[in-house]
Amino acid sequence: MAPRVRKTTKPRPAPTCPDCDGKGETTEAVRVGSRKSRVTEHRQTAMCLSCLGTGEAPATD
Ligand SMILES: [Zn+2]
Repeated sequence: MAPRVRKTTKPRPAPTCPDCDGKGETTEAVRVGSRKSRVTEHRQTAMCLSCLGTGEAPATD
């Protein structure tokens, strides 16, 4: 009985970044004015700082 040795060097599936939902970028509503903090229709797309745009959750070493 020779068990089939299968190299399971499969890396763990990269966890999806919870901050950007795996998109690698975040969309935030642009607020104008510090006092009014009025939300405009403009939306600012910025690179996700948690995963730095990779869409993967940062490795916790
Ligand atoms: Zn992210």
